[in-house]
Amino acid sequence: MDRLLGNASLKASLAAAFRADRISHSYLISGPAGSGKHTLAAILAAAMQCTAGEDRPCGTCLQCRKVFDNVHPDVITVDDPEKKTVSVELIRRARTDLFIRPNEGRRKVYLIPRANDMNANAQNALLKVMEEPPSYGAFLLLSDNPEKLLPTIRSRCVSLRLSPLEADEAIPALRAAFPDRSPERIRAAWERAGGFYGPAAEVLRGTQTVSEQGRRFADCFSRRDRLGLTELIAGQERAKREQLLPLLNEWIELLADAIRVRAGLPAGSEAAACLGRSRTVRELLEAIRRLQQAAELVQGNVGVGAVCGGLLLWLND
Ligand SMILES: [Zn+2]
Repeated sequence: MDRLLGNASLKASLAAAFRADRISHSYLISGPAGSGKHTLAAILAAAMQCTAGEDRPCGTCLQCRKVFDNVHPDVITVDDPEKKTVSVELIRRARTDLFIRPNEGRRKVYLIPRANDMNANAQNALLKVMEEPPSYGAFLLLSDNPEKLLPTIRSRCVSLRLSPLEADEAIPALRAAFPDRSPERIRAAWERAGGFYGPAAEVLRGTQTVSEQGRRFADCFSRRDRLGLTELIAGQERAKREQLLPLLNEWIELLADAIRVRAGLPAGSEAAACLGRSRTVRELLEAIRRLQQAAELVQGNVGVGAVCGGLLLWLND
């Protein structure tokens, strides 16, 4: 249980449930990226398989070690990272597999790391299995947006929501992982990450990568280079919807990062630092608003060409 930082009350209630042998068949673990969803899922899976008498998961029995080493044959990840969605076929395959008894564990645990990427068909297929699983069947759904799942799925699951970490929970761990960073940078990274460990570590590692178009956008927007921005956006008019959306989201993230830079926090990237140095908070907010509108239109099936046209009008008004 110590593997998960912070979240004291969540851990206490789980520990009490484990002691009383009240382990549910289905859990929905939610929280933003880097909040510890995978860690918590491993703890739950280990608690289900652990052979120790009490204080499960013990972390030392063979079953626990296999779960934490990611090699337990009865903890099955339902995902194909190559695909954009978690297809109904994957769920159906899991459902067939579920009726084969566990290899060595007490339970057969299905981990669905991208629950939000299941379409309605896949969710309905999953629901059928969740309604009447064999006694050894269990499901762990991970989601950064649980409200978007079918209410019938949510109501079948015990919901576990991960919380941001307090300073005294996050900072010692970050300091241990990044001994060469100054206390100020560590604290700033924790604040910038909204209290979550994963994003804070990412800031400290400086691994937030910015795409070529992201850098161009930041550069042109910083220099108020209308022509450059026009070229950049006009160049996207033939892009596909699925190409334009991540681009807009990246630009929005860069602008949001630039606002944090203006508040005195360190930048996640040179592109954001540059934006923060050259534009006011008001200008950055206005740009975020426009780009969000564009992203909504793209999601609402408005043509990419029309959305780009709208952005060009904004740039030149
Ligand atoms: Zn154990």
